[in-house]
Amino acid sequence: MRFISGFRVGVEWCSSEGMKLEALVKPSVLTQPVYEPGKPIEDVARELGLDPAGIIKLASNENPWGPSPRAIAAAKHALDHGELYPDGGCFALRQKLAAVRGLGADQFVVGNGSNEIIELLGHVFLGADDDVVFGGPAFVVYKLVTLLFGAKVVEVPLKNWAHDLPAMARAITPRTKLVFVASPNNPTGTINSAADLLAFARALPPHVIAVFDEAYAEFVAPADAMDLRPLIAEGRKVIGLRTFSKIYGLASLRVGYGYASAELVALLNRVRQPFNVNAIAQAAALAALDDGEFAEKCARENRAGMARLEAGFRALGLEWVPSAANFVLVKVGDGMRVFGALQAKGVIVRPVKMYGLPEWVRITVGTPEQNERLLTELAAAVRR
Ligand SMILES: *Cc1c(COP(=O)(O)O)cnc(C)c1O
Repeated sequence: MRFISGFRVGVEWCSSEGMKLEALVKPSVLTQPVYEPGKPIEDVARELGLDPAGIIKLASNENPWGPSPRAIAAAKHALDHGELYPDGGCFALRQKLAAVRGLGADQFVVGNGSNEIIELLGHVFLGADDDVVFGGPAFVVYKLVTLLFGAKVVEVPLKNWAHDLPAMARAITPRTKLVFVASPNNPTGTINSAADLLAFARALPPHVIAVFDEAYAEFVAPADAMDLRPLIAEGRKVIGLRTFSKIYGLASLRVGYGYASAELVALLNRVRQPFNVNAIAQAAALAALDDGEFAEKCARENRAGMARLEAGFRALGLEWVPSAANFVLVKVGDGMRVFGALQAKGVIVRPVKMYGLPEWVRITVGTPEQNERLLTELAAAVRR
């Protein structure tokens, strides 16, 4: 191998000997699938020549009520000190979480969205010899992170649209490092019973870490809620993931957290960037936790909106998957066609073909006005 210093020389050497950049890349990167996000309003407006103000996005399970007014005020205030690095340890936010959730402040790790915590789990635990078990279909980021670290995907098909916990338990091998369970699951919105989830976690062998993704936990009726804290208290290898992106309406600021034993949290803290959560996000999240009334209003509105969508689907003769979250899968025939037809009318939903569900679309519950518009356009789209 020749050692070349200087950018210009390097570039000439590359082109003259025909060395493609691709040849230098780790093979796993070239086969890494790319995440397809819900379409941004601006993209749709540009592509279709529509006014962005008239477009509604019901594609990414965002909060149609925006952030809490208190969170907005706190974020604006934090901008006044944008010249300072944020608190890399998220001290105030972790203190608040500890008080609200009844755990120690050292049992929380805050991330740039809860997605970052999933990646941190990969940094700490995953290599080429490891298996990762999760449901199929489940949140695609579990698969992306598994592949990113060269580990093996073990996807266990859902049963009746929910996680098949006995089958997932049978899929555990001596190589299994992580098992992801999302309840409610995305893209199905289904939950498993709290009793089944707790029993599943308690029966796992000691070399497996159970990751409970609770991104939609705040939408679940209290009677169906699962509480991970007894498992943590028992010293089990479990971690819960929560996010400020959904019920708290802060998706653009990127803040979420994991809660677990202080030992597991310390490991995750070792591999994160020193300033992974910006100060505006920290301030907004802190204020959002103080506005319980707003979160309750959003949960209430979501239940009413879900009932309205279900009534609308029933009237249209469409099948749907009963959901405990803020989105719902509905069977529309050709999902890509209906997605396109709705988009042309300025209503963005999520096709789920890449989740192996080409006949379905996933729709986020909106405001009452958004739900009516969606149902009107959906009626027209499925009639064609
Ligand atoms: C939306 C969502 C998240 C949240 O991710 P953030 O990075 O916190 O925005 C996590 N898990 C699931 C299953 C989700 O649907």
